[in-house]
Amino acid sequence: MIIIENVAVATVDANDTYHDDGHVVVGDDGRIAAVGAGHAGRYQGSVRRVDGTGCLVTPGLVNTHHHLYQWVTRGLALDETLFGWLTTLYPIWGRLDAEIVGAAAGAGLGWLALSGCTTSMDHHYVFPRDGGDVLEAEIEAARLIGVRFHPTRGSMDLSQKDGGLPPDHVVEDTDAALAATEAAIDRWHDPSPDAMLQIAVAPCSPFSVTQKLMTEAADLARRRGVRLHTHLAETDDEEEFCLERFGCTPVDYAERVGWLGDDVWLAHGVHLDDSAITKLGATGTGVAHCPSSNARLGAGSARVRELLDHRVPVGLGVDGAASQEVSHLGAELRQALYTARQRGGPKSMNAAEALRLGTIGGARCLGRDNDLGSIERGKLADLVIWRLDGLGHEGIDDKRAALVFGPPAAVELSLVGGRPIVERGELVHADAESLTRQARRAHRRILGDR
Ligand SMILES: [Zn+2]
Repeated sequence: MIIIENVAVATVDANDTYHDDGHVVVGDDGRIAAVGAGHAGRYQGSVRRVDGTGCLVTPGLVNTHHHLYQWVTRGLALDETLFGWLTTLYPIWGRLDAEIVGAAAGAGLGWLALSGCTTSMDHHYVFPRDGGDVLEAEIEAARLIGVRFHPTRGSMDLSQKDGGLPPDHVVEDTDAALAATEAAIDRWHDPSPDAMLQIAVAPCSPFSVTQKLMTEAADLARRRGVRLHTHLAETDDEEEFCLERFGCTPVDYAERVGWLGDDVWLAHGVHLDDSAITKLGATGTGVAHCPSSNARLGAGSARVRELLDHRVPVGLGVDGAASQEVSHLGAELRQALYTARQRGGPKSMNAAEALRLGTIGGARCLGRDNDLGSIERGKLADLVIWRLDGLGHEGIDDKRAALVFGPPAAVELSLVGGRPIVERGELVHADAESLTRQARRAHRRILGDR
């Protein structure tokens, strides 16, 4: 049992209940036993007491869009649009293998954990023929770091020879991709409420996937009761591609192939007109908002205020590390708030709403909001205690404002199901230096430097 006291608490419950000075109690079952103002009651047995003076406790952040393998190809194609960036990087990604992906995932997930993330998805869609078991490699990395993991089995089957964007050698055969996706569900997916590992089905994007794969992937996911994820409405180039090839906008295409619904979450959703937003809201289709990546690629800025006003589930994503080198989920809170305000002025998002995106909004996208995303009695104890009394934050009295408006905060303690994964700014189960060394070696290997 863990008792956290003398701490500001942002519960992110339905009323955004906030305690300036409160407590959270974590039970032996890894779930939240109590939360409230003032001190915790008396508890018997073996108890770890955490003094949260100077800190804020929030639900652990949920990362709803990522490509972990990209950690080893950061800093490339720095001044490109999405299509220019992709065509530069596809040939390099064609050299991925399990060792490289494992090293990238270790580095990426270690860094995410240090940035306040307790649950991350990953969207992996490059499976070179002789690359080994890359999905297994990233799952092992997630187990090492200790985060809750939602890897998606991605796929691409539309290459240049058929009018798609990726080169021929990085795509898969349609039926083989579907079979491998179902095999991943069989092997890894845990449907239980406490699950540390869940699989989703994730063909990559309209310009790299055939209509057949989109349709059959949706059928597969629904037959197996898992969720669906893809990139949609990220750039003007993609919209032009859809208009030319399918004669409709990306969201109308998604509707046509059975990809709107409350079991679907879409990465980006930047270029959406009013009718598209209405459709997402009416169907409960989620959006993984990735404001830093959108800014890095100059893709545009998502209409998050309007999405929220239409009750669209919106989570935050850092997106692949090669399309935004910061990859810090805590920092994405501020980027989301700034992006909303650049579009709609200072009333268009406040600190509590930004925090909702990073927590309960993400949990909704992943279908885990019954168990994750807020600090409420009975929910899983995925919690982050942020240190907010140092040089960067002292004097910002509202600790939620300090977290969102201030510089990226250090994690004092991060729990996943009540088990620590970060303590005093250090990973508990892995060594950051060794993760860095492995990532460096993988970076050199994939660039062909050795
Ligand atoms: Zn992406």
